[in-house]
Amino acid sequence: MDFSFTEEQEMLRDSVVKLMAKHAPRESLRKWDRERKYPEELYQAWVEAGLLRLPFPEKVGGLGASALDLALVVYELSRVSTDVSMAFGGSIFCGLNVLRKGTDAQRAHWIPKLLDGEIKFCIGISEPDAGSDVGNIRTYAVKDGDRYIVNGQKLWTTGAGLEHSVICAYVKTDRAAHYRKGMTHILIDNDMPGVEMRKLDMLGRRSVGTYEVFFKDVSVPADRVIGGEGGGWDCLMGGLQYERAVSSAGNCGGAQAIVDLATNYARERIQFGQPIGSFQAIGHMLADMETELEAGKMLTWRANWLVSQGRDALREITHAKLFTSEMYARHANMGVQIMGGYGLNQEFDMERYLRDSRSTTIAAGTSQTQRNLLANLMGMKSKT
Ligand SMILES: Cc1cc2nc3c(=O)[nH]c(=O)nc-3n(C[C@H](O)[C@H](O)[C@H](O)COP(=O)(O)OP(=O)(O)OC[C@H]3O[C@@H](n4cnc5c(N)ncnc54)[C@H](O)[C@@H]3O)c2cc1C
Repeated sequence: MDFSFTEEQEMLRDSVVKLMAKHAPRESLRKWDRERKYPEELYQAWVEAGLLRLPFPEKVGGLGASALDLALVVYELSRVSTDVSMAFGGSIFCGLNVLRKGTDAQRAHWIPKLLDGEIKFCIGISEPDAGSDVGNIRTYAVKDGDRYIVNGQKLWTTGAGLEHSVICAYVKTDRAAHYRKGMTHILIDNDMPGVEMRKLDMLGRRSVGTYEVFFKDVSVPADRVIGGEGGGWDCLMGGLQYERAVSSAGNCGGAQAIVDLATNYARERIQFGQPIGSFQAIGHMLADMETELEAGKMLTWRANWLVSQGRDALREITHAKLFTSEMYARHANMGVQIMGGYGLNQEFDMERYLRDSRSTTIAAGTSQTQRNLLANLMGMKSKT
């Protein structure tokens, strides 16, 4: 069993570290968070570096990288900020859905625009009455000639308000059918007539932002349906697994940043004439944090390796998502404790990791639903 990354993977990782050091210094991250502003120039730097191309095959202009390669990139982006990296993840996950489920014409239309940075993608699943219970979505699209007329509301849509964002919306097209059959995936520009948005005031992830989106008689060309009418559930499920696998690496990146910050602080902070890290209470917290982080990375790299091999990895992906999201939030809490009052001050970054980490056990499936899924895979019976 070989646990090392290849030379190419290490080079890729190194290039992302350098890019982020240049384009996303700490001071800028604090400012973007404070002003709730998304750095479009950072996104363009990712585009220019070819990062958006990574997981797409060469025949559509991509670089043919594996899920594991992509996970390494997301790990490094998230080590800097799990907030700003969400715009990268959202675009990639939705783009891969278009690749998997789109027609040749749809791929030829959308993928180059995404890879060239002309558009971004975001995911519009959740609604006020449909969170964990995704099948309960109400947004409705009715066919009218060669267009669909969309009415309804999405909630928590990350990145919906960014420049040239296309909302990959999941809508009902047949209210009578079971949601596995009556749901459709349709692409809606965020500036189409009838689309209105409001950036929500959230605890964390304030730069990319989480939006409430309203659709009022939005007229969308029918050739923007991906996966066929009624094919939404398949798109959603395939996309979510990949998203959970790769974003587990983001949780590890965030947790790594916390361990590094807390360790440096514990070495330098002197109380009672000695570094606080020399007190067993603090040293053991750090030892536990590092141990859990290594366990989280192992689950994450394994899940992404399996995905890279094209193997079924639902169970392993769920282990990684559940463990790393809870670990990230727990580490942030411990990081604040280790830094005392400084941990809560905006000039010391730990509080930003605390705020940004909190949503990871909720977004892309709550911890409870991940446990339900695992229990089901273990032969227990549950409806969700
Ligand atoms: C920061 C952030 C970003 C997000 N980004 C997006 C996005 O880009 N696009 C998008 O579509 N959505 C997004 N979401 C929405 C996210 O997917 C939902 O918040 C999540 O699925 C949970 O839904 P809910 O918040 O309505 O909670 P609910 O489903 O109402 O759950 C409330 C509580 O009940 C528990 N619960 C519910 N059902 C069960 C059950 N069967 N068994 C046990 N416990 C259960 C949950 O675990 C939770 O603890 C985002 C959310 C956040 C916080």
